[in-house]
Amino acid sequence: MTVMDDDRPILAGGPALAQERRLLTSLPGPRSREVLERKAAAVAAGVGHAVPIAAVAAGGGVVVDADGNSLIDLGSGIAVTTAGNANPRVVAAVTEQLTRFTHTCFMVSPYESYVVVAEALNRLTPGDHAKRSVLFNSGAEAVENAVKIARKHTGRQAVIAFEHAYHGRTNLTMALTAKNMPYKHGFGPFAGEVYRAPVSYPFRDHLTGPDAAALAIAQIDKQVGADNIAAVVIEPIQGEGGFIVPAEGFLPQLAAWCRDNGIVFIADEVQTGFARTGRWFASEHFGVVPDLVVTAKGIADGLPLAAVTGRADIMDSPHVGGLGGTYGGNPLACAAALATIDAYEHDGLLARADEISTRLLDRLRRVQASDPRLGDVRGRGAMVAAEFVDPATNAPDAALTARVAAACIAQGVIVLTCGTYGNVIRFLPPLTIPDHLLEEGLDVLEAALAQA
Ligand SMILES: *Cc1c(COP(=O)(O)O)cnc(C)c1O
Repeated sequence: MTVMDDDRPILAGGPALAQERRLLTSLPGPRSREVLERKAAAVAAGVGHAVPIAAVAAGGGVVVDADGNSLIDLGSGIAVTTAGNANPRVVAAVTEQLTRFTHTCFMVSPYESYVVVAEALNRLTPGDHAKRSVLFNSGAEAVENAVKIARKHTGRQAVIAFEHAYHGRTNLTMALTAKNMPYKHGFGPFAGEVYRAPVSYPFRDHLTGPDAAALAIAQIDKQVGADNIAAVVIEPIQGEGGFIVPAEGFLPQLAAWCRDNGIVFIADEVQTGFARTGRWFASEHFGVVPDLVVTAKGIADGLPLAAVTGRADIMDSPHVGGLGGTYGGNPLACAAALATIDAYEHDGLLARADEISTRLLDRLRRVQASDPRLGDVRGRGAMVAAEFVDPATNAPDAALTARVAAACIAQGVIVLTCGTYGNVIRFLPPLTIPDHLLEEGLDVLEAALAQA
């Protein structure tokens, strides 16, 4: 496929793709516009899109569209292509698997790669206790299964989720998710026995971690009762809710209370997992060892895969046949996961997340020093956010956020917004992005903010 304006061919992603921001048209260009018009006619209206392009290639730190525009990727397809889009290791492994078999269903005829993925997850997730894993297709499906497992293990039903939480779009995970628009509006009734507790949000609650935990625990205890609770489900750093980093001490105190009360502590590491935050899992930043860890997004470079990993006695409580699914742990996704894990382990990507962190945080804090509309800059590793406010009141400024994000995208920089109040821009670059593109992306952002 040749969509470039110069001599360089587009190879299958990876470093061969020219690492530059290049706008040949305004967005969308004519070829992309045609695809988007057909999208409007053929695809359900409920499926929105953040960037008005039709992608044809991606790799390193860019996404290329059908008109030959090359956009700087600060989103990684929502924290998925952390190891770089079409990572060459993944391309080779999946291509090889494709020639052998595409599917047998692991519940019919098991195969080794699923087992190797489980072994890797058991090895890499926090804690040195005996573990088991089970594979699924999506983050939401894995969260649902983590709750099923916790309920079977405890014989209890109640589940605690938090303010600003995001856990997916299926019925149970909509109930766990905090934000109405766009995730829940009109889609009820929602699953029962889900209760919401306050979370630590230092920029807004001004509480220490232990104080925020005490508040949450008191509320849970009074309103639900520890003896009724199967599981507490929490993102160690909240994703869609605004990249909210809890104050030091919040998670350990919550985890200790769960342990004391026989409650399964489930870390939803779907967005934070797999090198994204500069550690394998964000729980490590806070010194917590979850009973169950849910993973997806960064696990397989975009092939659909998700997992629940945790304490062997909890994981083994469902009866034989109680867990599974037709496609869960598909052999192509497993091949991709093993190659992606190889990339994290052998290509220096965890250290790269820390380098990216320093660049993002330093730059954004410099901007913040002269622009009080940038109320908070926070994050870990290559998971960094800027929260925009009205400087007079600290009130969320969603309109400013939307204008800045739209201006960045129009200039060929893919940024995503998030936050309960829609006033956060999140930075999730692939760890393969070259420094010059990261800096150029931030130049564009700074100029967009100055003009907004
Ligand atoms: C994206 C996300 C999910 C849902 O994952 P899907 O693969 O979209 O179902 C669940 N939890 C968190 C924290 C996420 O970021």
